[in-house]
Amino acid sequence: MMKWEENVRKVEPYVPGEQPKNTDVIKLNTNECPYPPAPGVRKLAEEFDYGKLRLYPDTEAGKLADALCGYYGIAPEQLFIGVGSDDVLALAFLTFFHSGKPVWFPDITYSFYDVWAQLYRIPYERKPLDGQFNIVKEDYFGENGGIVIPNPNAPTGVFEEVGVLEEIIAANPGSVVIVDEAYVDFGGESCRKLIGKYDNLLVVQTFSKSRAMAGLRIGFAMGNPKLIGYLKDVKFSFNSYTMNMPSIELGAEAVRDEEYFKHTVNKIIQTRERVKKELAELGFTFPDSRANFIFASHEKMAAKEIFVELKKRNIFVRFWDKPRIRNYLRITVGTGEQMDILLKNLKEIVAGG
Ligand code: PMP
Repeated sequence: MMKWEENVRKVEPYVPGEQPKNTDVIKLNTNECPYPPAPGVRKLAEEFDYGKLRLYPDTEAGKLADALCGYYGIAPEQLFIGVGSDDVLALAFLTFFHSGKPVWFPDITYSFYDVWAQLYRIPYERKPLDGQFNIVKEDYFGENGGIVIPNPNAPTGVFEEVGVLEEIIAANPGSVVIVDEAYVDFGGESCRKLIGKYDNLLVVQTFSKSRAMAGLRIGFAMGNPKLIGYLKDVKFSFNSYTMNMPSIELGAEAVRDEEYFKHTVNKIIQTRERVKKELAELGFTFPDSRANFIFASHEKMAAKEIFVELKKRNIFVRFWDKPRIRNYLRITVGTGEQMDILLKNLKEIVAGG
């Protein structure tokens, strides 16, 4: 060890799903949208005046903020925009989880939460989900340094009723409750309507899944103006120009095309419901997903074996060798054709296993 290494902030980073170079892969491992962004986004991208790129972007991402405020019926003071919801969540951890008391989140959840907690030296406790992968709401009553819950949860896809989350939010006026709604558009219900009622609620969403724009990196949070103000203070103490110009303009255009958004999301929901039936016929079980993925376990064959076999066939899904979930695969819902290929291969794999 070098002498200076003692003084390094050491962290074990988050491991994102593999982004293969090979374009032949059927990529069902990072919950991206299988369809392109709205047609207007393409048109705008093609017409984008690259000469403008010499200028710094709008620090308030005004065009995008206007579009989102209009769409969700909120005031600019209730909105925060960041570089994907990972950026928003990382800044929210830094801003709101500062008490020294443990932050609470489920034991099975988005694996970035413990990474941020470790990065910022925030103590944390994982609250075990029940046998059906549901939250035990009473576990979230008591003294804590903050709470973060994804709804629907990842990687399970399980949705908790807004009433359950409201009880948790109401029981914790002394700490900020973050509801991570990365997947809420695929059949969940947003806690957005509660931001006027609870000043400790931050609702986080993303353009990466339902709006088919993971590549542009847009996320946002909605909350009480005071909460948003603190978040902005931290953000502007870090980097003023986080949102780049194309993301601001193309993101705003995506919000304007509500019809395309709804159409795309509905296609994915319909495909998901069909795939659930077909997976069940092949001997898979899964919690009832309201997200754009299914968390499935096979009655006879180990998840790891299926994962390896699928990969050999150029079909990428996600597998974690972790307690309670090592017998599950998280399968993103792709296009109907992609899912037909997946199901055909799964049939061969489980029949031969
Ligand atoms: N929250 C959850 C629960 C997620 O699964 C993801 C996607 N990995 C994110 C947040 C972050 O997504 P993004 O930064 O692309 O908005």
